[in-house]
Amino acid sequence: MIIIMLGAQGTGKGTVAGLISEQIGWPQISTGDIFRKNISEKTILGIEASKYTEKGELVPDEITVPMVEDRLNWEDAQEGAILDGFPRTIEQAEKLDEMLKKNNKKVDLVINLVTPKEEIIERMLTRRVCTNQECKATYNIKLHPPVKEGICDKCGAPLKQRADDSDPEAIKKRLEIYEEKTSPLVEYYKNKGVIRTEKVSVEINRMGKDVAEDIVKEIKNK
Ligand code: AMP
Repeated sequence: MIIIMLGAQGTGKGTVAGLISEQIGWPQISTGDIFRKNISEKTILGIEASKYTEKGELVPDEITVPMVEDRLNWEDAQEGAILDGFPRTIEQAEKLDEMLKKNNKKVDLVINLVTPKEEIIERMLTRRVCTNQECKATYNIKLHPPVKEGICDKCGAPLKQRADDSDPEAIKKRLEIYEEKTSPLVEYYKNKGVIRTEKVSVEINRMGKDVAEDIVKEIKNK
């Protein structure tokens, strides 16, 4: 089963994907995480990707699409996978359909997370991530802070702010790209009848873990 997490930055895609992954046992495939890991390890892919990620721009498809195709072919992703951060454009969605078709697979469920605009920027500015690449836990210093300030509850490594979350220009750019290039995917997947829209908001007291619980129930019933 292929599940896609859709939603602007800071809506909690990674958190929901991580929770579903933990409970179902399918990998969370986050293109952003793969890029960050490569950037920290200074691989050729990382050096190339950082030219774009630093500015909040999309990494070109020639790099991103084969990277996702390769990851989807790993043994652990054969039963199911949760894609987080891919696709981000209609072109990527079409390429994903093509690569899945080769293996008689398709996109089964798209979870579209919607958060009020005012909350989004605040969430990006207050997000902190674990520096341990094997852990990658995400916190929010206001909504779900770690027990000990600056330290990951799960593995004890220091937390940090993502480089692109601390730069207002990069934040602005990423939100613009989301509106222009990624949001048309909602219509794309609506037409395929696979989308499920979920509100995530402090205002209505519905957070990522509530969404994840509902989705896991649905998957288990299938
Ligand atoms: P994220 O962690 O999903 O916010 O991604 C961080 C950055 O990685 C983005 O701002 C892009 O520069 C890059 N990136 C992640 N996913 C993609 C994708 N599907 N296509 C192109 N660039 C991506």
